[in-house]
Amino acid sequence: MAKEKMLKFVDVARDMPEKRPPNLRKQDFGEIYAEYAAAKAEEQASRCSQCGVPYCQTHCPLHNNIPDWLRLTAEGRLQEAYEVSQATNTFPEICGRICPQDRLCEGNCVIEQSGHGTVTIGSVEKYITDTAWENGWVKPIRPSRERPESVGIIGAGPGGLAAADVLRRAGVQVTIYDRYDRAGGLLTYGIPGFKLEKDVVMKRIAQLEQGGVQFVLNCNVGEDLSFDAIRGKHDAVIIATGVYKTRDLVAPGSDASGIVRAIDFLTASNRKSFGDDVPEFDTGELNAAGKRVVVIGGGDTAMDCVRTSIRQGAESVKCLYRRDRANMPGSLREVANAEEEGVEFVWLSAPNAFDGDAVTGVRVDKMRLGLPDASGRRAPELIEGSEYVEGADLVIKALGFEPEDLPKLWGVDGLEVTRWGTVKAEFTTGKTSLDGVFAVGDIVRGASLVVWAIRDGRDSAGAVLEYLGQNAMVAAE
Ligand SMILES: Cc1cc2nc3c(=O)[nH]c(=O)nc-3n(C[C@H](O)[C@H](O)[C@H](O)COP(=O)(O)OP(=O)(O)OC[C@H]3O[C@@H](n4cnc5c(N)ncnc54)[C@H](O)[C@@H]3O)c2cc1C
Ligand code: SF4
Repeated sequence: MAKEKMLKFVDVARDMPEKRPPNLRKQDFGEIYAEYAAAKAEEQASRCSQCGVPYCQTHCPLHNNIPDWLRLTAEGRLQEAYEVSQATNTFPEICGRICPQDRLCEGNCVIEQSGHGTVTIGSVEKYITDTAWENGWVKPIRPSRERPESVGIIGAGPGGLAAADVLRRAGVQVTIYDRYDRAGGLLTYGIPGFKLEKDVVMKRIAQLEQGGVQFVLNCNVGEDLSFDAIRGKHDAVIIATGVYKTRDLVAPGSDASGIVRAIDFLTASNRKSFGDDVPEFDTGELNAAGKRVVVIGGGDTAMDCVRTSIRQGAESVKCLYRRDRANMPGSLREVANAEEEGVEFVWLSAPNAFDGDAVTGVRVDKMRLGLPDASGRRAPELIEGSEYVEGADLVIKALGFEPEDLPKLWGVDGLEVTRWGTVKAEFTTGKTSLDGVFAVGDIVRGASLVVWAIRDGRDSAGAVLEYLGQNAMVAAE
């Protein structure tokens, strides 16, 4: 099979099992894939020119030592490549799968910039770590000594988990509190399984649990347990609660049934993949099967919604965005993937109302791009008299997320927030306005990326260790 065709075939077979050719058995596929992945990783790693100006490394939020692990992979020294790669990244197999590499490491590869196509750094990172798991090179967490101090982490997303990993390896007693029934945050319930397989996330959570991290799940801090109670119980606290307040769309008819929030739609789909009982999915309320789906928004969450709808068997899937392709916030790679799968993008279009008690259509105004606004992006302007109706049975609102009002929710006046509602925290340490309280991830940055949450979690854990050390010295004096 020609390499190009093989690549396409493997991608389709992995992403869309329903399209897998019927004569291909799962075990054949696994073997073909393993062989192919090994050859592909080595081939890609050998393409790295070891240029000496590793822009890839500087543009990776974790400053991963990419040239070194690419060289080791090209030389077939995979275990050493894994050791180098995991030294700076807590979850390399996760980042390899879901980082928007076109905006980070790969977008800054000098080979890409000289027009020869980037080294596929993320895929190699994923391959190295998947191989490490298969071969038992991923070491369990075994602190060399136990420390008496304990840290409470609120939120079991990538920020909280990365901090827990560093602290636990240092022997600190770590408890993570989360309001969901499973750990992982958006890795578990936000990002769809076709981008990030859930067993990959669960394996990491099991590793933390086996290493002594305590998880207190189904615990909504502020309701089931107060923030002060957690503060009183631990020597330090890390807030890693992410951002979950959905930006809403207020327009005539927007309360019709069939108009749903992206996070609810994606959570239902992810829960279903775990085999959970999800009545809203079974009744069709949060299920795109057989429907004309319209997704509103142009970010990565919108891309996840359109691609999930396709996989659920929607009759048609359209994505409405008020700017054009060049000005959309989502990854262009994701748009290309969605288009290839049959999603239609309706650019320069904004909803102004919805028809039906159970939605039957979206009233759409056409837009044109005017002068740049304060953010430097060209502002969309209405074209008068351009309204038309886009038929729809399911409308998914994917307009972004904002932080919840933590000081109010938790009744803590002293916790300072920014004018955007994010927790005010020192840049490299995550220290907040409260003594012994740190914050990491989206709740500090606003909706961001997994790799930045990991970076924050690791940095902040270092600062917490310093804080605990200073307190221990004071106590000993
Ligand atoms: C649909 C979607 C797709 C995305 N895709 C990508 C992608 O492909 N690549 C990428 O890099 N990034 C992606 N992101 C962004 C990425 O998921 C986030 O930036 C990242 O998960 C932030 O990590 P976090 O640890 O700060 O928060 P989260 O992952 O949001 O975790 C926060 C945790 O805190 C818990 N929590 C909140 N409040 C409380 C409380 N009061 N009590 C107890 N627990 C609480 C929540 O239940 C949750 O488990 C995506 C985001 C979304 C919404
Ligand atoms: S962590 Fe993300 S940005 Fe860094 S090398 Fe890996 S895929 Fe690239």
